[in-house]
Parts: sequence; structure tokens; C-alpha cells
Amino acid sequence: MGMGRFVGIFAAALALAACATAPQETSRQTQRTSPRAGAMTALHVCSGHVSNAPTTDTKRKIINYDPLARVAGVTLARAPVRACVSSGFGPRRGGAGSFHHGVDLFTKTPEPVYAGGDGVIEKIATARGYGRMVLIRHEGGVKTRYGHLSSYARGLNAGTRVRRGDLIGHTGDSGNATAVHLHYEILINGKRRNPLTVGG
Ligand SMILES: [Zn+2]
Repeated sequence: MGMGRFVGIFAAALALAACATAPQETSRQTQRTSPRAGAMTALHVCSGHVSNAPTTDTKRKIINYDPLARVAGVTLARAPVRACVSSGFGPRRGGAGSFHHGVDLFTKTPEPVYAGGDGVIEKIATARGYGRMVLIRHEGGVKTRYGHLSSYARGLNAGTRVRRGDLIGHTGDSGNATAVHLHYEILINGKRRNPLTVGG
């Protein structure tokens, strides 16, 4: 083997080594695999009674469901977990004064929960009712909240920048919850809106 060829192989090995370490700095972003990352492409309503259920076909698939909402210039997943809708947004049956400020996404067992949009972790802490909760601040006064988690993704802290589709935790039943699900909220200037219909 000539010296030139040896040096060439050595340089290539160095380049490979550099490549192998580079993705670790951006590992959070490598899970973003498609333009619809973190968003359910189709969404069904769970079996049984579901309050404030959106309109579905005979197979309980939500009609005119758009995986992504565009809210104040921010693109958000309407359902950032593989799940079915177990409770919609709005006043609850029989519950005088009870209003559901988010959508419940039932998963039966813990499933990965993804950041609904690009942003920064504002809070990652236990909160009354919500249990283990993540609050993400997006641009334009838009935030998303994730409640009842069983766990948080490793290395996630207040101030961590996330992109839509990044893993933030797993569904659970922490806080005021009777089944494993994600309670998901979209907030615009502090006001909670229906994640399934808000925006364009
Ligand atoms: Zn809920």
C-alpha cells in the first residue's frame, strides 16, 4: 500500500469518526422524519361514549381531520401521539360548570408523546390536576400543554429547544386521570382553544 493511499484511508476514518459524533448534538431532531412529524395522519374517536366527539364516519374516523393546525404562523400537530380521542373540547355532559379545555388522547398503555410544534420548553413539572406536565412556548403567543404524562424524555429541561416531532415523554395517568391518556391543550395568548379545530 502506498503512503498516499494509507493517508487517504486514515483521513476517511477521521471523517467517519467526526460524523459519528455529530448527530448526538442534534439527537432530538433526528426523530423528525416527515413534514407531518409528531402528528397523527388520521384520527379516530375511541369506542364507547365520548363527550364532545367530533363528527366521524361509520368507522369512527374523524371527518375532515387535518393533522396540522396553522395558528398565528405556527404549525402544530392536532394530535401529537398515536391514540384515539376519548374526550373532546367543550362542556362535559352532566357536569355543571365543567368544561374540558383540551382534547384527551387515549393510549391504553404508555405511548411516545411528541412536541406539537417547534418551540422552547417553558415548564416541565408536576402541576395540580395535570400530573406530570410539559408546557411548550411557540412563536406568536402560542403554547401547547401536555398533561398526565408517565415520564419525561431524558435531558428535557425548561429552556430546552424542541422541534415538532421530538419526543417529550410518554402518556400516563398522573394527576387527575383515570386512564392512560394525553390531555393536550393549544393556547393562544393564554386562551385555550380546541386543538382539533383551531386555526387553518
Ligand atoms: Zn383532558
